[in-house]
Amino acid sequence: MKKGINHGGIQFFSGGIREKAMKLYKLEFEIRRAIQAQEFVLMYQPIVDIQAGNKIVGFEALVRWNQSERGIISPAEFIPIAEETGLIVPMGALILRMACKQTKQWVDMGYKDIQVAVNFSAKQFSMDSMVDDVRRVLTETNLNPRNLKLEITEYTAMCEADKTIEIMRALSNMGIQISIDDFGTGYSSLSYLKRYPVHTLKMDKYFVDHVADNEEDASFARMVIGIAKSLNLDLIAEGVETKEQLDFLYREGCHLIQGFYFSRPLNTDMALEYMKEHYNVPTQGSSFETEPE
Ligand code: C2E
Ligand code: MG
Ligand code: MG
Ligand code: MG
Repeated sequence: MKKGINHGGIQFFSGGIREKAMKLYKLEFEIRRAIQAQEFVLMYQPIVDIQAGNKIVGFEALVRWNQSERGIISPAEFIPIAEETGLIVPMGALILRMACKQTKQWVDMGYKDIQVAVNFSAKQFSMDSMVDDVRRVLTETNLNPRNLKLEITEYTAMCEADKTIEIMRALSNMGIQISIDDFGTGYSSLSYLKRYPVHTLKMDKYFVDHVADNEEDASFARMVIGIAKSLNLDLIAEGVETKEQLDFLYREGCHLIQGFYFSRPLNTDMALEYMKEHYNVPTQGSSFETEPE
């Protein structure tokens, strides 16, 4: 503890706040600069179908800040601040554009069914211009909406529910699929799943971690798998690291897997290498079943 905490408690406290405010301010400035300097890069983590011979079905795009002095900074450090300051909006626009551009390149190389999931924060989802922005990026990058997926957390889904549902419907009508990220960890009532055009649930790593060594954890995972099954939603297990976890999930019927067991997030070159080895070439044209409305 710093000295003077007893006598000058308030001062100490306000000093702390000032320090924190300065730090935030500096970071905000840095983020603005980094957007200009294009220091944000995307990594792509494979999502694998273990029922289809471990073929890749898509990637999740995960942002990294490649800062000259500090090296690679993880999103956990700057996404919350970007959200607080509203900078997530221009940053998110940049991320979406990068992801769509990259995906289009892969599609043009023959990976026609590859789907890339982009994380969206609550702030982005509450923007009036959201749907138009997404549509514009798709048009400009010439990407088929079926190759794009948006990940939002339960928290985002619950924020301004009426508006969110409207936005989700518009996106869904465009042919974009929506995933609920970190499913089961946020505050939520299950009823929203009925009203929202959700396509996929992502079971958080939290539920996956101990499925193989703790019966209670296994029960929770089974419950999540059951929810996805009965609602006829796709389910992706996140954070799968071991063979034991994989075997459990396979047995219980969760067949879409994302985690270090198969691959860490990859740079674009390595992601392409991964696809070369693990992509299931469709026999005729695209195997997408439905046309977007
Ligand atoms: P998330 O969307 O739940 O992403 C999954 C996180 O789990 C990623 O962390 C990924 O690297 C990590 N992960 C995947 N498999 C494993 C595993 O087997 N073991 C372990 N220990 N970790 C695994 P990352 O990349 O650090 O991202 C953290 C969070 O930051 C993301 O959680 C997401 O909420 C946010 N984020 C990342 N990129 C973006 C973005 O472009 N936009 C927004 N708004 N948020 C983002
Ligand atoms: Mg995610
Ligand atoms: Mg997640
Ligand atoms: Mg997570």
